[in-house]
Amino acid sequence: MTNEEWNSWEWQYKNSITDLKYLSDCQLNGFNMRIPPYYAELIDSRSIDCQIRKMAVPNRLELRNYNLRCEGINLYDSLGEHEVSPLSNLLHRYQERVVLLVTNECFMYCRFCTRKRITSVSNRKYDNSKAFEYIKRNSGISDVLISGGDPFTLQDKEIEIIIKNIKAVKHVDVVRIGTRAPVVMPMRITDELVEMLSEYKPLFINTHFNHPKEITDSASKACAKLIDAGIPVANQSVLLKGVNDDEETIRELCLKLYRNRIKPYYLYQCDIGVGTEHFRADLQKGIDIIKFLRKNITGMAVPAFVLDLPNNGGKLAVSLDSIVTEKNGLISIKDYDGRIHLYPQPE
Ligand SMILES: *Cc1c(COP(=O)(O)O)cnc(C)c1O
Ligand code: SF4
Repeated sequence: MTNEEWNSWEWQYKNSITDLKYLSDCQLNGFNMRIPPYYAELIDSRSIDCQIRKMAVPNRLELRNYNLRCEGINLYDSLGEHEVSPLSNLLHRYQERVVLLVTNECFMYCRFCTRKRITSVSNRKYDNSKAFEYIKRNSGISDVLISGGDPFTLQDKEIEIIIKNIKAVKHVDVVRIGTRAPVVMPMRITDELVEMLSEYKPLFINTHFNHPKEITDSASKACAKLIDAGIPVANQSVLLKGVNDDEETIRELCLKLYRNRIKPYYLYQCDIGVGTEHFRADLQKGIDIIKFLRKNITGMAVPAFVLDLPNNGGKLAVSLDSIVTEKNGLISIKDYDGRIHLYPQPE
């Protein structure tokens, strides 16, 4: 492998680890896996507790069966996203925003992924033309979030066609792209890609760093390229047990993002799902972490702690006042309208 190869995203993508025989310490068949060589290098091979490893390498715990403490939640779609999907690749839960899923491919299949029902299906066909029509027909939509999978696994030309079609709709003001490329494959942020994207402002990138170790020199340079080109980068983390569920790690993460001009936007409670229960942290932990950040660092670097309520309850910024009662691991939580939702703590 030459230096040039290592730095090319095509090489990284082709040479990603997709087969467990390369990983001596785990032997199981579960969900899709793919680890780019770049990201695999961040794993501390001497430590079984390495946080980077936990996010990338399959674990037996993914296959464990478990029962939630409350009934009526479908583990394959705990958020009830099918109810708000007018098309198979479009989510329309909030009036003025939609999420458009453009691929089921990712550069890395994160073990904690909440979209496994999408990323574990191969060769799904994405017909965006119906989605473009839907957006055009619904004049209330002003903000389109391009997601997946990872949209940057597509070729520049394909990405451009999608953005162009959305921007062609008069009532759409802003386009956002959700991607983990800066984190797991920073070489994907090529000059050509950045130049193309910069033609379509206002355009925002939402990326997904979970741990300060992920903000390498290459990762921060990739984000700087975007920001220098006038494309703001915000970060959405997930609170993950054993990875980042402590005050110091999140403090370091948020301050490092801030120094790199990346706005810490959301800290998500890990969604309920198949094969991810071992990643779910206690809801109180997230509240405590935000309280700690509020007291100790600038508000510029404090994300909102959000919970996507099960069964289409919507996103809720959780605070101390949101929790009404907790009994036997079942939380009653109040949303913005004062409605009560039941939420089970992790096992
Ligand atoms: C999270 C989410 C959005 C975007 O929410 P913002 O708070 O605007 O970032 C849009 N639609 C759905 C269905 C979502 O889950
Ligand atoms: S990049 Fe996002 S969609 Fe893809 S596996 Fe990771 S969390 Fe899931």
